[in-house]
Formats: sequence, structure tokens, C-alpha cells
Amino acid sequence: MKANIYIDSGAGPCFGVQRAIQMAEELLEENKELACLGDLIHNDEEIKRLEKKGLQIVSHCQIVEQSGKNMLFRTHGETPSTYRIAENYNVEIVDATCPIVKELQNQVIKLSKKIAEQNGQLILFGDIYHAEIIALKGYCNSEFHIVRNVGDINKLNTRKPTVILSQTTKYQAEYKKIVKAFEHKRKTEKATKYSLEVVESICKYVAKRDMQLIDFLGDKDILVFVSGRKSSNGKYLFKVGKKKVKRAYFISNPDELQKKWFQKNRRIGISGATSTPIWLLNETQLRVEELLK
Ligand code: SF4
Repeated sequence: MKANIYIDSGAGPCFGVQRAIQMAEELLEENKELACLGDLIHNDEEIKRLEKKGLQIVSHCQIVEQSGKNMLFRTHGETPSTYRIAENYNVEIVDATCPIVKELQNQVIKLSKKIAEQNGQLILFGDIYHAEIIALKGYCNSEFHIVRNVGDINKLNTRKPTVILSQTTKYQAEYKKIVKAFEHKRKTEKATKYSLEVVESICKYVAKRDMQLIDFLGDKDILVFVSGRKSSNGKYLFKVGKKKVKRAYFISNPDELQKKWFQKNRRIGISGATSTPIWLLNETQLRVEELLK
């Protein structure tokens, strides 16, 4: 029985990640020393590839050691204090903050200033330990709250002007639930006289990926999902994808593939997170082909 193997044409890194990788590779190709503050992307295989070219991953407490050297700020952005520390130590900042994230940071500065004048609050929907949220907190000049799920909404005060924003890599369906829960609480608590502004801050690239994956899997029997284990959109997309096929497997490396997964299956779909490089999807396809021989 011959299996047909397909790679999801919508998969592959988003433009922000591609841009950051290109910035890193250009410097490495010029044989320049380059450190990246934190993992450049949530994909260990891609990081290993760049480390072989000379990229060094450093933590915030190592900024002082980078004096006079190049240091890349990744797509998620950094807090204003990180810029200040790097500048104080004469670090050459290579800023790969995604322009969409930069735009959100600017919105947070503007909106938090406005809401502070009204004694209001800013609500950020996101993962408390995600680098983008950690950086965004640094741009808030007002009372702010981070909500991770609908349950967190119960703890909020609705009786004050409110602005709601989302981490760029969250999904629309989840964000809608958060907004709906806040609106419901506001009505129940008779607080609708206080202003509410909801900002559409989810990245359009991320927003369409779940629907694209669902379409792609329409005629597939099995899903092989390739993603770094730390990638939040990887975890989410896998959850969405696995409901659409008979069997689904999450791998971070083609070596994890097992021959027994593919017996009797005909239509195999390979997809990945917004940080999964195309070369890793291609290697996965080759490995599946080998296992089917
Ligand atoms: S997912 Fe969107 S916001 Fe995030 S790095 Fe990619 S393009 Fe930028």
C-alpha cells in the first residue's frame, strides 16, 4: 500500500522569524561574533543549525559580558530596561524585534498612558512567562493585569475604564472567549458605563494558521506535527490538528518518527508551528518515505 505524503503549504516560519534568522545569518556569514539574548526561535533544531554557524545563546545576566560585541534581540522584543543595560555596557544591539511586536509595544505605551489618566486598567491576554509578555509589561505605564485564561477574568475589577490587548501569537478563538467573559462580567456587575476598548493585536499570520491547518487536513488520515516543545502556537495548532485526523503525532525532530505509526495509512500530512523551518519539514518527509520502504 503506497502512502502519499504532503507538506502543509501554509506551514513554515512567519516573516518575523525569517527576518530574524536572516539578520543572524548575514552577520555570521561575515564571520562576526553574534550572541542572541535567549533562544532566537522556539525550535531547537534551527537553533542547533545556527549554533554550528557560530551563534551563541546568552541570558540576560550575561549582557555585561557582551560589551563591544553584537547581540541580537529576538522577535518577541525586549523591555526598555534591557535596551538601557545593553547600551550602558556598549553592546552593539542587533534589533530583530518583529515590526508587528514593535507596533504592539507602541500601542501599549500610548494606551496605557491614556488609561492611566482615567484611573483605568490594561488587560493583557497572554502567557505570563512568554518573552513577548515579559517585554510588553515593561512598556505599561498604568495598572495592568495579565490574563492567561477565562478563569483569570473572575479576579478582575470591571468598574473602571479598560483596554484589552492580546499577545500577538494567541489565537482569535481564545481571545474572543476572554473578551466575551469580560463583557459578561461587566454586564452582570452593572459596570457598562465604564469604557471598554478591545484592540485587535493578534498577528494576522498566526490568526489564519489554525484554519489553514484544518483545510489542509481535510483529506488526510494522519498528521505528523513538527514543532519545538516550547512553542505555544505549536502546542495549540497540534491540539486543533489532532481533532481532524485519525492519528496525530507531535515530534520535534525526524529521529523521533516510528515505523509503526505509518502502517496501513495512506494520506500523511506534515505540518508545523510558525517557528518550524521548512528544511525540517522536508527532512521529516524524507524520513517518513524511508520508513515506508
Ligand atoms: S508570529 Fe507574527 S508577530 Fe510573531 S514574529 Fe511572526 S510575524 Fe511577527
